Amino acid sequence: MARRLSQLARLSVTELTGLGPKAAEGLEAAFGVETVLDLLTHYPRRWIDRTNEARIRDLRPGDEAMVVADVRRISSRRTRGRPPRTLVTADVSDGSGHLKVTFFNQGWRERQLPAGTQCVLFGKVDTYQGSLQMTNPVVDLLGDQTGRFVPVYPQSEKVRVTSQDVARWVAEVLDRAGTFAEPLPDWVRAEHTLTDRTRAFHGIHQPDGWDDVSVARKRLVFDELLRIQLALILRKRALERVTKGITHEVAGPDGAGPSLLTDFHQLLPFPLTGAQERVIDEITADLAGPHPMHRLLQGDVGAGKTVVALSALLVAVQGGHQGALMAPTEVLAEQHHLSIRGLLEGLTVDDGGTTLLGDRPVAVELLTARATPTERRKVLAGLADGSVDLVVGTHSLIQETVSFRSLGVVVVDEQHRFGVEQRAALRERGAGDATPDVLVMTATPIPRTAAMTVYGDLDVSVLDEMPPGRTPITTTWVRTDPPAGEADDDDAIGPLPEQDHLDGTDPEDAVWAAVRAAVGEGRQVYVVCPLIEESDKLEVRSAQETFDRLTWQPDGELASLRVALLHGRMPAAEKEGVMDRFRRGEVDVLVATTVIEVGVDVPNATVMVVLDADRFGIAQLHQLRGRVGRGAHASTCYLVGSGATEEGEARLEALVASTDGFALAEVDLDLRGEGTLMGERQKGRTDLKLASLRRDREWVAKARDVAIALVDADPELAASPLLADEVGLFLGDEEQDFLLKS
Ligand code: ADP
Ligand code: MG
Repeated sequence: MARRLSQLARLSVTELTGLGPKAAEGLEAAFGVETVLDLLTHYPRRWIDRTNEARIRDLRPGDEAMVVADVRRISSRRTRGRPPRTLVTADVSDGSGHLKVTFFNQGWRERQLPAGTQCVLFGKVDTYQGSLQMTNPVVDLLGDQTGRFVPVYPQSEKVRVTSQDVARWVAEVLDRAGTFAEPLPDWVRAEHTLTDRTRAFHGIHQPDGWDDVSVARKRLVFDELLRIQLALILRKRALERVTKGITHEVAGPDGAGPSLLTDFHQLLPFPLTGAQERVIDEITADLAGPHPMHRLLQGDVGAGKTVVALSALLVAVQGGHQGALMAPTEVLAEQHHLSIRGLLEGLTVDDGGTTLLGDRPVAVELLTARATPTERRKVLAGLADGSVDLVVGTHSLIQETVSFRSLGVVVVDEQHRFGVEQRAALRERGAGDATPDVLVMTATPIPRTAAMTVYGDLDVSVLDEMPPGRTPITTTWVRTDPPAGEADDDDAIGPLPEQDHLDGTDPEDAVWAAVRAAVGEGRQVYVVCPLIEESDKLEVRSAQETFDRLTWQPDGELASLRVALLHGRMPAAEKEGVMDRFRRGEVDVLVATTVIEVGVDVPNATVMVVLDADRFGIAQLHQLRGRVGRGAHASTCYLVGSGATEEGEARLEALVASTDGFALAEVDLDLRGEGTLMGERQKGRTDLKLASLRRDREWVAKARDVAIALVDADPELAASPLLADEVGLFLGDEEQDFLLKS
């Protein structure tokens, strides 16, 4: 009988010959490999093509080469520079000549490569004191493996499981598994020219050449992506089946006439951007449909998401329902409340005969923990009897005991996780047994194909056009301490007036001078304090210290300005007081933690200073930068930090090079890989092992199309038991019961 993956998933690796409890423990600790299926999908990291082998005698400086050689001598020492580094040098030979190999900061190489070891070295050849050298080459150990094409499995420093061990165990798995069952319908394989499973597993682990690898990889990548897409589409369709939505009247009460929505758009002081119009159309189409909307709106900072959100909420109101907007923090809820009030000024809604005029203003209320008991009671009563149309609050709004007369549309700002429980909570607050429509907004865009995977059970709208008239933001990386001994490639950095490392001044001085100059011109400034991820408390302390240092009388850099401190641990009323004063222009400089990351909108603020910027992620820096550039004046963002790590350096360079959130998201994905991305929503088995959301982006879309075709033809995959069986492997038990009832 053909082998199913689910069978292998039930077998422990200890079933294999020569794989005892000790090795099993190692495999689990190092790679999370427990079952035979885990081992089978523990893929080589690369393959050594021995036909490409070079002779040391033939190497020339500048060559990229692979040599197979024996270690003759190896030793290590500490360098004297600052910081001190471990330097390991080895002399290797392949019989044709000698090569010097140097490793920086890899002290363990001395243990890995004792004299006599045969190893494969990949790297660039240079010369040092007259002899050929490779610096920090990629090293693999061949052990007793023979053959022209040798797989190299991931190594672990924690546990000693060699690549040869893994190759041997995998060979046994392939041998004993025999022929694999084929879960894909023929048309799918034909349409995408995919090889069969058996060839794919053999081709990835035991290829004869690159052709085998690429044919195998294509099939296995497709399988991974298809399983994920099937799970997502099954989930999406199942929710559509079991939930009942509200069919909103988008075109206005009498079918076509003027509606609250068109009134709202006409009252706006600006025309909608093309992207806003398109996205509002996508949303209203969902709202008019029978299923509850579950849509993600991605739009860069400042793209104008609020108007879109409000359009969705007003569709609910015009049909006699209510809308709720939920923000991640109270400060942001207040901010949203203010801007929504502003945007709704002058807008009236049919009163349903309760006033003589026939129209009344749209009623918007704020509900946060800060409300007095009396205010709170009033708002709750209004929500219950329907006299409040729109409510703005924090994410806890739906968890609380708030009852709505008829909640029609919910907008969730900056909350990536809006899962099954939250939706269940919503259902209880909808009209009758209907589930309100949900729009999730995020200003952290991710690339389209990544969104298909990470948010694949949602529909996605993208606001990819900025309103006109924005002044671009100039971003400057203020390098604090260039890594010792490395040339400063200053031309990669934007210009900073007066910056001068040589005269002994602190590079930060120029930043504070620029801050004072901006304030002198009547502008305002944010200073974001070092991020301390480990501890909220330490972060507050660092903010306090930054504030003290800058305002210290008489010689603090900002001592002459009106400076205020804002951090997450301040009492709510105090926070709000500070924000109010900053909004009114009574504070020049706001020294803050990342509490200001999203939503804060003060157009007169034109300078953003981020301290220790190399500690922040790309998305976070982009968000912070988005706090400026919101008005008519030119804005500047100073990223103060060292390029201590290569990745930190790459992040800061990316920010200097681009202000486009989607472009930055691509860089971020390149730097961090998809692991982190997936981790945000899906854990464990669904993680991609071979597929890359970057490299295989076209396959993400193809797998999604196939998944949609399969599920729409056969909602519970009843006719494809093998496929259902495999998808089930990657789902939790409960979900498996829910999605695949068969
Ligand atoms: P986001 O929430 O996407 O970061 P906002 O909704 O806060 O952006 O909008 C940023 C600013 O742009 C606000 O001041 C808003 O009034 C303004 N704005 C929104 N849409 C437009 C438009 N179509 N034309 C001009 N300005 C707009
Ligand atoms: Mg916003």
